[in-house]
Amino acid sequence: MKPIFPSIGYSRLRMEVDGEGVTTLVCAQGCPLRCKYCINPESSRDRGRPRYIFTPESLYEAVKIDSLYFLATGGGIMFGGGEPLLYPDFIEEFAKLAPDWKLYCETSLWVSPRAVERAAQIVDHFAVDIKETDPEIYRSYTGRPFDRAGENLRLLLSLVGADRITVRLPLIPGYNTDAHRDRSEALLREWGVTRFDRFNYVIKEKNR
Ligand code: SF4
Repeated sequence: MKPIFPSIGYSRLRMEVDGEGVTTLVCAQGCPLRCKYCINPESSRDRGRPRYIFTPESLYEAVKIDSLYFLATGGGIMFGGGEPLLYPDFIEEFAKLAPDWKLYCETSLWVSPRAVERAAQIVDHFAVDIKETDPEIYRSYTGRPFDRAGENLRLLLSLVGADRITVRLPLIPGYNTDAHRDRSEALLREWGVTRFDRFNYVIKEKNR
């Protein structure tokens, strides 16, 4: 049976937003976390239906119009979410159709170690949305324990090395502080992470 990728949508012609060159962001539906300020609440399976059910071939058909841009700029496809590593079979099959495009993946790593191992073989760069390393803050913000994300980050570092990973460290109003973020960065540097993206969540009133 063909692997599928339920998607809430895709966005073309993104310039140096989350990868080199021109990228198309393809958003998965489904996420194991329940972040309090979810950026894509419609990605949760409980809250809506996917707009698309892609097969590897149908996604390739949908995005190939930008192939020349990808090849000329070193860009490609950014799988985002929801959680794209819920669909490692799909990403593997898609990669075979587009061997010359770069593949990027934005992930919380709150997935199975097997999915991480498989993605490590095909994804060129990972944006790891680790959020926070303090276990209590992580659980109160995401509804899940930190251990799985932390263990998978160490696994990914061992498989692909630090140059292919950027770790996102947000300041989350009401949950962590700059001091927490500094502690997270120090811990992750001990683990071998060298690339960080520190930014602040801007919370809309309706999400509070
Ligand atoms: S990991 Fe992303 S998609 Fe999943 S709940 Fe958190 S913000 Fe939403």
